Amino acid sequence: MLADRVPALRGWKAAAALPFADLATNAIGRQFVYAETIATALRRAERDACARAATRFSFDMLGEGARTDADADRNFRRTMEAIRAMERAVSARAAIWRERLEVSVKLSSIHARYDAASYAQVRGELLDRLKQIAGRAAAAGIGLTIDAEASESLSLQLDLFEALAADPALDRWGGLGLAVQAYQLRALGTVDALLEIAGRRRKRGGMPIAVRLVKGAYWDAEVKRAQELGLERYPVFTDKRLTDLSYLACARRLSSGLDSVYPQFATHNPVTLACVLVLADQLGGASAAAARFECQRLHGMDGRCTARSQLCIRICRCARMPGRREARTACLPRAQVARKLGEHFLCAPGGARETIRRFAAHGFRLSRRGPVPAGPSFTNGAAHAATTHCKGL
Ligand SMILES: Cc1cc2nc3c(=O)[nH]c(=O)nc-3n(C[C@H](O)[C@H](O)[C@H](O)COP(=O)(O)OP(=O)(O)OC[C@H]3O[C@@H](n4cnc5c(N)ncnc54)[C@H](O)[C@@H]3O)c2cc1C
Repeated sequence: MLADRVPALRGWKAAAALPFADLATNAIGRQFVYAETIATALRRAERDACARAATRFSFDMLGEGARTDADADRNFRRTMEAIRAMERAVSARAAIWRERLEVSVKLSSIHARYDAASYAQVRGELLDRLKQIAGRAAAAGIGLTIDAEASESLSLQLDLFEALAADPALDRWGGLGLAVQAYQLRALGTVDALLEIAGRRRKRGGMPIAVRLVKGAYWDAEVKRAQELGLERYPVFTDKRLTDLSYLACARRLSSGLDSVYPQFATHNPVTLACVLVLADQLGGASAAAARFECQRLHGMDGRCTARSQLCIRICRCARMPGRREARTACLPRAQVARKLGEHFLCAPGGARETIRRFAAHGFRLSRRGPVPAGPSFTNGAAHAATTHCKGL
């Protein structure tokens, strides 16, 4: 306990301070939670949608894996209810909502045994649930993104996604999507697999699939777990610059398949975003490419970064969940630090190229081919991984 080590936090002083600490965490938490219920989120989103024409919305139920079947059933029901609420909104105000709504789902939240050991037994049930969610979203005319989770579940996630993408009943729906984590050593391979899946779907006349590119939210947990298991190598990069580089390599690879995938670049890092925009320039101008990809941020994070990109922006993440205060508190430290960093970067005057120049120290330089890693500053295994990934740039 912190109070055992900090005398000032003991006794009546602690009791007096607690309500204020509570108030403060709640106030900060509110900044990152869009609304408490899907109904209030939709009302608020309608106002925001009218004010900012290019904004889209992706709603996410906060919370991680289901521990019990009851948890999973409840999460599944909530997801279906949220989609129904969005469906009602779309049918009432189609002009406002067309192609602007999306829901994210974590596979671990809709099945308590979503893990490699149980997968063979539970695959049928999981796929059945997923098909119900996807079918409902398709009928409602909204998007669905399957969130990326622990690296151990990557092959399960891909297997289920492939089954969904192969379902002819969902071919005419352009809202099917998946998140890919750039910090995974298998990131580029994952993007290649998705391009193949998307290519097959397109060949038989299906719609493109959406790929949300993220860096990955579970870095500490991945490293810790690999250490506990005594794995020979980490499943994720352990040099931040390599994750950034991998992100750009994946972005470039995705951009090579714009006829079958719709990339969604989710990042709060202005340098990464600037590099993505340089990539867009190379694809024939940001405005030409704008219709073919979008930038995403979480609600509560600084919007100037994505606003500057003048692309289609997805403001993400309305949250609705019980025990919401705990959920908010859990996501606070990371979000606050990232927000501060973003603000610091964004205070710098100048456009995308200037931003890249200023952040050359973060491992990039601009070549004629676009952003590439700056110099041989990577060490040991990182150098090899960097070389491999540079092939994708
Ligand atoms: C709209 C949206 C949706 C998201 N959905 C998901 C999702 O489905 N699944 C998911 O996992 N995450 C998701 N995230 C979170 C995302 O993966 C990142 O954690 C978050 O955006 C921070 O990355 P950044 O590019 O914004 O910032 P940056 O500060 O540039 O990057 C921070 C990231 O770098 C990586 N990193 C940090 N230290 C190291 C190191 N030593 N070595 C290697 N890599 C390191 C980690 O991935 C860390 O999160 C989402 C983010 C957004 C904006």
